[in-house]
Amino acid sequence: MDKRIEIVEGDITKLHVDAIVNAANNSLLGGGGVDGAIHRAAGPKLLAECRTLKGCKTGEAKITKGYNLHAEYVIHTVGPVWHGGNANEDELLSKCYKNSFRIAMENGVHSIAFPAISTGAYLFPFERASKIACNVTNELLKNELFLEKIFFVFFSSKDFLSFTKIAEQYF
Ligand code: ADP
Repeated sequence: MDKRIEIVEGDITKLHVDAIVNAANNSLLGGGGVDGAIHRAAGPKLLAECRTLKGCKTGEAKITKGYNLHAEYVIHTVGPVWHGGNANEDELLSKCYKNSFRIAMENGVHSIAFPAISTGAYLFPFERASKIACNVTNELLKNELFLEKIFFVFFSSKDFLSFTKIAEQYF
């Protein structure tokens, strides 16, 4: 396994990293799941900054400060809702990871943590989403020396174990 990859079971809001990625919705005004947890942990100033961003398109990403989080930044990305697999879901999810990495590097982020984007309320199949996350990250790490640590964070041990098995084939 590449030493820059860490797979973690737990709550992404607790991590000490330069940036955590939020699986947000198009409004960027908060929601359930990991989005709700990030807004609760960061405090109301996060929502105030998000209001100034005027939303975010699916597959794109926008950055804010982390406020009360340990993380300096939150990178908000909007994953696709799963519609069966023929609605460009794979490419949109892959864009979430690529755009999050791009914004991270543009802002001097060396350590970043991702949740399992789209695999909760948005119902993207977990294994398929995990392969996309690993594939994009693996491609990036081939030519990129800027990022020192990439955390993949899972709330359940089932997801943690399942991702770990898949990741072994990529890193
Ligand atoms: P989406 O709408 O993109 O599917 P969700 O927040 O519903 O986003 O789910 C994405 C993933 O985040 C799910 O696997 C869910 O279990 C996980 N999750 C929820 N809360 C947290 C948290 N505090 N830390 C890490 N992962 C979380």
